[in-house]
Amino acid sequence: MELEHKNIIITGASSGIGAAAARLFAQEGANVVLGARRENELTKLAQAINEESGGRAITLSGDVTDPGFASALVAMAEQEFGGLDGAFNNAGIVGDMTPIATMTIENWNSVVAVNLTASFYAAQAQIPSLMKRGGGSIVFTSSFVGSSNGGLPGMSAYAATKAGMNGLVQSLASEHAHEGIRVNTLLPGGTVTPSGGEGNSEVMTFVSGLHPIKRMAGPKEIAQAALFMLSDRASFMTGSRMVVDGGMSVRLL
Ligand code: NAP
Repeated sequence: MELEHKNIIITGASSGIGAAAARLFAQEGANVVLGARRENELTKLAQAINEESGGRAITLSGDVTDPGFASALVAMAEQEFGGLDGAFNNAGIVGDMTPIATMTIENWNSVVAVNLTASFYAAQAQIPSLMKRGGGSIVFTSSFVGSSNGGLPGMSAYAATKAGMNGLVQSLASEHAHEGIRVNTLLPGGTVTPSGGEGNSEVMTFVSGLHPIKRMAGPKEIAQAALFMLSDRASFMTGSRMVVDGGMSVRLL
């Protein structure tokens, strides 16, 4: 059991990569605090986890753009499980896919709020709690978009926030390494989830073709990488960007 007795917050747990991570971490012994806006999805997932696996799942619905939600997730881990050992800050949105010239300010602001400013809120709430435990691990979900070779048209707000997250993590990691807190970023390639175009065969064929491996990832394949970084097996890993992108970033053709 890779995460036995570890108490871990997962945001974006109502769907896709976050939901797969919730199941996987619980199977590996973690107690998980599941956060997202859709309460019904969270409740159903927590019930399934509590019936299936050795871990315990509890839920809190809310919006990651509210700093109070970040604090409430931490308070829940402390009150219900006795402390916090890690977080998978994974909630994210693509926003409107449109060129900068026609992008609304509202879209820009909302993508920045969910993907980047919320990462700051999460870290600010989580770090003091991890310090009380004498250390821990935080993983943020970034993306191949904003990091790999080649830009994708219409995704500038998303790319900017994911690249910004990589910078945030570098500083966070160096600020807290001496306190035993490791901070890393996960860079998935195209993954079969609602945000990744699940159910839209045209999008999925296009995105699959971008990867040398010629398919998209399953959400569990991405969750496995987050599991590693949250576990003690990654004890010497901090400030890293783990690329899990089917070869996208080394693509020549
Ligand atoms: P998904 O299935 O659409 O899940 C997105 C999750 O984020 C949902 O649980 C959603 O929950 C939550 N969320 C969105 N806005 C939120 C908000 N304001 N407050 C709280 N929760 C919010 O997509 P996914 O692919 O699993 O995405 C997970 C992460 O992977 C994202 O950061 C995404 O950018 C990243 N990523 C995805 C891909 C891909 O191809 N799929 C590739 C690279 C990176 P609610 O709607 O219930 O709030």
